[in-house]
Amino acid sequence: MLRLDTEVQYVKGVGPRRAALLTSRAVRTVGDLLLRIPKAYQDRSSFVTLDSLRAGQDAAIHAKIYRSRDIKTRTRGRILEVVLTDGTSYAYAKWFHGGSLHVAKGFASGKQIVLYGRVERDSYEGKLSFFNPEFELLEDEENASGAASLDVGRIVPVYEELAGMTSRQLRRIIASALADLADPLWDPIPENIREQEGFPDLRVCLQRIHFPIPGDSIDDLNRRVSPAHRRLIFEEFFLVELVFALRKKQSQLTRGVRFETSDRIRACVKKILPFHPTNAQKRVLKEIVEDLKAPHPMSRLLQGDVGSGKTIVAFEAVVVAVENGYQAAIMAPTEILAEQHYLNAKRVLASLGYRIGVLRRGIKKAEKKKLFEDLAVGDIQVIIGTHVLLEESTVFKKLGLVIIDEQHRFGVVQRLQLMTKGDRPNTLVMTATPIPRTLAMTLYGDLDLSVIDEMPPGRSPIKTIHATDREVNQVYRMLGEQMRKGRQCYIVFPVIEESEKIDLKSATEGYERFAKLFPDRKVALLHGRLKSEEKEAIMRGFTAGDIHILVSTTVIEVGVDVANATVMVIEHAERFGLAQLHQLRGRVGRGSEASICVLLTPPKTGDTARERIEAMVATTDGFRLSEVDLRLRGPGEMAGTRQSGLPEFRVANLMEDSALLALAQREARKYVEFEEQAMRLLKEFSARASSISPAGLVTVG
Ligand code: ADP
Ligand code: MG
Repeated sequence: MLRLDTEVQYVKGVGPRRAALLTSRAVRTVGDLLLRIPKAYQDRSSFVTLDSLRAGQDAAIHAKIYRSRDIKTRTRGRILEVVLTDGTSYAYAKWFHGGSLHVAKGFASGKQIVLYGRVERDSYEGKLSFFNPEFELLEDEENASGAASLDVGRIVPVYEELAGMTSRQLRRIIASALADLADPLWDPIPENIREQEGFPDLRVCLQRIHFPIPGDSIDDLNRRVSPAHRRLIFEEFFLVELVFALRKKQSQLTRGVRFETSDRIRACVKKILPFHPTNAQKRVLKEIVEDLKAPHPMSRLLQGDVGSGKTIVAFEAVVVAVENGYQAAIMAPTEILAEQHYLNAKRVLASLGYRIGVLRRGIKKAEKKKLFEDLAVGDIQVIIGTHVLLEESTVFKKLGLVIIDEQHRFGVVQRLQLMTKGDRPNTLVMTATPIPRTLAMTLYGDLDLSVIDEMPPGRSPIKTIHATDREVNQVYRMLGEQMRKGRQCYIVFPVIEESEKIDLKSATEGYERFAKLFPDRKVALLHGRLKSEEKEAIMRGFTAGDIHILVSTTVIEVGVDVANATVMVIEHAERFGLAQLHQLRGRVGRGSEASICVLLTPPKTGDTARERIEAMVATTDGFRLSEVDLRLRGPGEMAGTRQSGLPEFRVANLMEDSALLALAQREARKYVEFEEQAMRLLKEFSARASSISPAGLVTVG
C-alpha cells in the first residue's frame, strides 16, 4: 500500500533512475506525483471516424498510419506529414517541428495512433488535416486493440512532460500509484465544509482528477472547476488561511502595548497636520487608533498607491505613541528613503519637540554609540533607519510602535524581528506597491487591512509617453521647455556605469550627456555608491530647486517627494519591472502642475517589456498595474517567494482562483473559533501528509 508520503521510487514502474530524475524535479513522494495534475483533458471516450470529420471540430480519432514522411521545407523548417486511415476514409496530420520531433522515426506505416486536435482544411491542398495535434502512438497489443487502455476510450489526462517522461509515460506511473494508494486517506478538510461545498473526499478526488469518470464535464475539467479541482485548490488555500486565522486569533488574545487618546493627544495630532487630510486618510487613521487603543497589539497593513499620503498617517500614529510615553521606530528599505523620512519627521514633528534619531550606514562609531545609548534610556523618542535597526545592538527603553515602510522589500521574518525589540508593540506595515488582493491575502493574511484609496486634492494627472531612442531629440526639447517654465526633471538609468558585458546607457554617461545638452542648468548625479552626506546634499539641493536635472539610478524609486519636479524620463524602460516603473513614475505628479513621464526604449523590445510599457501608458492606477504584473510574472516571482514567505501552491493559482481563496479565508476564520480543533488539524496535517501541503507551510504554532 502506498501512502502520500511514500517515496516515489516505490511506485510500480518507477525504478531508481526515474526516481532520481523525479526527485530532482521536486517530485519526491507519491503525494508530489499525484499533485502533478493534468494540464488538459481530452475526450477520447468516443472516436470520430475519418469519414465524418468536419473542418473546425475538435476530434479524437483512432487510426492507422498509412504513410509518413519528414519533409524539409525552405520557409517553415521541417514538417512531419502523416497520412491516416481507419478504413472509412483518409486524413492528414502535420507537425511543424523544425527538426525537433525526435519521435519522428516512430511513425512507421501500419502503426496505431490516437490523435486529438482541431480539424482544419489545409488552405493549400484542401485536405482535412490536423496541425500539430496531440498524439500518442499505441505501442503494445493491448493498447492497439483499445481494450482496458489508459490512453483511449475515456477522458484522458494530458500531462506536462516531467523529468524526460512523456505524458503517456506519466499516465502509466500515476495510474499505478493510484491503484496501490491506500484507501481511505486522511482528509484535512473538515467534513461539514466538504458537504457544504460538494467536495469529494481526498482519495476520490485524487482518482477523479487523474481519471475522470464518464459523465464528468470535460469543459469543467479543462477550466479547473470540476469538483475535484475545486477541492484540491480549496485545500491549499484553506491550510494557509487556517495558519493565518490562528495567528490572528492568538494575537487578538495576547495583551500588548495599549495606548490612550485624550483631547490633549488629539490636539497634538491636529497640530502636526500641514494640510487637510483626505477622507481616506481620516478613515484609515481612525482604524489605526482603534487598534492602538485595543488591548491586543495592532498588526495592520496600510496600503495606498504611491503619493496617496501614507506618511502623514504614520506620523499621526507616532504622535499617539510618543504622547503615551512610548518610543516609535520607522524602518525603511533604502538609505534615501530613511533619510527622506527623517527630514520629513523633523519638519512635521518639530512643533511637538520630539527627539528624533536616524541610523545611517557609515555613521561614525561614536555617533552611533551615543544614538544607541539615547535610545536605550529613552532620550530618543522616534528612530528611523534601514534594516540596521534590526541589529542586536539596537535596544529600546519602551518600544510601543513599529512602522515598516515599503514592506514588500522586507520579509515576514524581518517584520517579526523588529517586533521582538519591544514587548508586543503595535505594528503598522505600509506598502506603496499595490498588491493584488489575492496576494495580500496570502502574504499578509494575519494582518488587518487599511486602504487609502483616494489621492490628495490638487494633483494633476501624469501623461505617460513611450518613446524610442530615435525620438530623443523631441524628449530633450520637452525637457528644455519644462525647465524654462521653472520645472525640474528626473532622468533614471538602470546602471551606474557602463560595462562591457551589457550594452546599456549608464547614469554616469547620462550625467555627462545632460550636462552638455543643458550647459546653463544645474545637473546632478545621484546613485547608491555616494556617501550619505553627498546623497543628502544632492537631495537637499533638488528639494530646494537648486538642481534642475537629477540624473539617477533607481535609488530615487521610493519616497522622494519634490512637487516641482514634473518630468520623469526613464532610460531603458524595458529593463525595469512594472512595479518599479510605477514607483518611479510616482515621483512626479505630486504638485498641481501637469507632469510627464517618458519611457525610453530601443526601437525593438521583447514582448513582456512591451506589455509592461503599454500598461504603463494605459493607466496610472497602481492596483490595475499590479494585476497586470501578477499576470505577467506570476505570484511567486512577484512576491519574491523565498523570503516573502509566500507559499508555493501546486494546484491553486492566485490569479484564477481568487473566489476559492476568499471562501477558504471565510471558512478558516469560522473554523478557528474552535481553536483547539484547528490546532489539532494543523498538527495532524503537518505530521502526516506534508507532501500535499503548499511548500513552506510546515511549521505550525
Ligand atoms: P506615499 O503614500 O507615497 O508615502 P506621501 O505620504 O509621501 O505618499 O505623500 C505624497 C505627497 O502628498 C507629500 O508631499 C504629502 O505631503 C502630500 N500629501 C499627503 N496628504 C495630503 C493631503 N491630504 N493634502 C495635501 N497634500 C497631501
Ligand atoms: Mg511613502
